[in-house]
Amino acid sequence: MPETIFNKILRGELPCHKVYEDDRVLAFLDINPLTRGHTLIIPKEVVATLDQLSDESAAALGRVLPRIARAVMAATGTRDFNVLQNNGARAHQAVFHVHFHIIPMADDGSGLGLGWKPLNLDGEEARKLAEDVAARIAAG
Ligand code: AMP
Repeated sequence: MPETIFNKILRGELPCHKVYEDDRVLAFLDINPLTRGHTLIIPKEVVATLDQLSDESAAALGRVLPRIARAVMAATGTRDFNVLQNNGARAHQAVFHVHFHIIPMADDGSGLGLGWKPLNLDGEEARKLAEDVAARIAAG
């Protein structure tokens, strides 16, 4: 695995503004927040992208994400937020250690901006694709 800034934070070699830690997860404030309260949640398991993550780390992250989101919303006085999780450089990942962003949407509308250009789902192609994905999930 390539060395990352988050690895160094996990090892205590770089500082962070920690908001949560357990045996599998660390959460801290983003150093360049999109809005006040922008928080990163990372597994202690060292993998680059979500598809590489173990079930145990995934479960640990899933368990604490809502709790951390509630705390960030309460602390910042916001209600709406985005959870962002980038995988791969083309998908805007800059730090190659799995992480989830919790990004509050501020009252003035600042927060995560999205370029969302939806396509139409073709029925027959969708049926085949769903079958293919389902079979791969079942195969593990
Ligand atoms: P991503 O584009 O999803 O890989 O996002 C990486 C995030 O990590 C960015 O929002 C950065 O601002 C943030 N970041 C980079 N270095 C640090 C650091 N030392 N402490 C906290 N956040 C960081």
